[in-house]
Amino acid sequence: MLHPAQRYIVLLSLLCNPFAFLYAAQASTKPVKNIIIMIGDGMGVSMTSAYRYYQDNPDTPEFEASLFDRFLVGMASTHPEPVSGYVTDSAAGGTALATGYKTHNQMVSTHPHKKKLKTLLEFAQEQGKATGVVVTSQLPHATPAAFLTHHPKRFEYQKIMDKIMEHPADVMLGGGLKYLKSQHEQKLQKQGYQILKTWKQLNQIKSSKVLGLFTPVALNKAIDAVDPYHLTHMTQAALKTLSQHKSGFVLMIEGSQIDWAAHSNDIVTAMHEMQDFEQALQQVLTFTKTHPDTLVVVTADHATGGLSLGKSIAPNYHYHWDADQIRRIQHSPDYIVQHMPLNTPQRAYFAKQLGFPLKQTYWQQIKAHLKDKKQLVSILTTIINEESNTGWTTHGHTGDDVQVFAFGKQSQLFHGYQKNTDIGRHLINVVKQTPHTQDAS
Ligand SMILES: [Zn+2]
Repeated sequence: MLHPAQRYIVLLSLLCNPFAFLYAAQASTKPVKNIIIMIGDGMGVSMTSAYRYYQDNPDTPEFEASLFDRFLVGMASTHPEPVSGYVTDSAAGGTALATGYKTHNQMVSTHPHKKKLKTLLEFAQEQGKATGVVVTSQLPHATPAAFLTHHPKRFEYQKIMDKIMEHPADVMLGGGLKYLKSQHEQKLQKQGYQILKTWKQLNQIKSSKVLGLFTPVALNKAIDAVDPYHLTHMTQAALKTLSQHKSGFVLMIEGSQIDWAAHSNDIVTAMHEMQDFEQALQQVLTFTKTHPDTLVVVTADHATGGLSLGKSIAPNYHYHWDADQIRRIQHSPDYIVQHMPLNTPQRAYFAKQLGFPLKQTYWQQIKAHLKDKKQLVSILTTIINEESNTGWTTHGHTGDDVQVFAFGKQSQLFHGYQKNTDIGRHLINVVKQTPHTQDAS
C-alpha cells in the first residue's frame, strides 16, 4: 500500500502525464520474485557514519559516500516488547525483522503467549520459493536462528541447530561445524544437500541445496582472516545457487560481527567487518542489475556500543575524529597481543602495529600488563580509541533507531519512520503477494 505522500505524488503525476497511470499500475502489480534482507548486526547510525569516513579516499577533497549512503530511505525503532524495555537483544531484534512481531529478549521467533511466530522464510517456502541464510557467526546464533527456526532461549545453540536441521533452508553458509552432528549430515545428504567444510569448496557448488560451515564456531574476524571478504564470497555463492530456482528466493545476509567488535569497543575491527558487509551489498547490487525483479532491504537489528565520532571531555573540547589513525592499523588488538614477540624489542613492535610512536604513558601501561593478555587487549583498544578520539558509552546494545536502506521492486514500502516489525510485516506481505508459480526471468 502506498504511503499518503506517495499517493499524492502518483496523483500529481497522473494529472501531468496520463500515461503515468500505466507505469504506476505496472510498478504496483508486478510481483517481486526475489527478496534479499541484509542485517548489519549492531550497525547503528554512527557505525555507518564512521565507515563513510574510514573508506574515504584521502587524496580527494570531498568525503566520498559509502554504498549504504546511496540507498538510505528511512529509520526504524528497535525496542523489543515493552516488558524487556527499550533496548533489544539480537534475538528479539531478529524476530521482529523475521516475523513482524515483537517478543521478549532472548526469544527466537517465539513468544511466551503466541508461541511460534511464523517467519519470512517459512512464508517463502509456502510460496514455493527457495530460501537462504548467509552469516559470519555460527549458524544457530540469534539472528540466523530467528529466520530459520523457533526457540525460547537463544544461547541453547545445539538445540537450535537440531531444530534448524529439521527444516533447513536451501542455502546455509557460515560458521558452526561444532554443532553439526553426523545424523544431521546424513539427513541432509539424503535430501540432496552438498555439504561444504572448506573455503575451496565454496567455488565447487553443484547442487541447488547446500550447507557450508567453514569453522567450528564463528568465522575469523575479517581484519585477521586470510581472506577478509568471507561474507562477500559466501553472498556471491548463495546468489549463484539460489538464482537457479525458477520461482525466486528469499535470502538473509548478516554481517554478524560488526556487533561483536562494537561490544569490545574496537573501532578498527568494526571497520573491517563493515567493509566486508559493504562488499556483500555490492554483490547484491550487481545481481539486481540482471535480476530487476528483486527487492533489497538493508538495516540493523540494533545499535551497539554507543559509538561516537569524537569523545572530548570538558574543559578541553576537541572537535576531531581521526580515520587516518584507524586506517593505519592492520590487525585487531587481539591478534596484535597474540602475536607479540617475547624476545625482540616489544615497544617497537607495538608502535609498528599501532602505527604511531608510543608515548611513554602508553608504553608504561602496556609494559605493566605484558603477562595478562586479556587486559593487554583492553589496553590496546583503549589506546586506539584515545588516539583516534573514538567514544563509546557501553559494552552492550543501545536503544537508538537504526537506518533502513532499500532499493528495487516495492522498496517504497520502507520509506520514512517505521517500527522494526513493520519491516518484517512488509517483507512477509510482499512474499505472500507472489503467485505460486512464475516464469523464470
Ligand atoms: Zn550484540
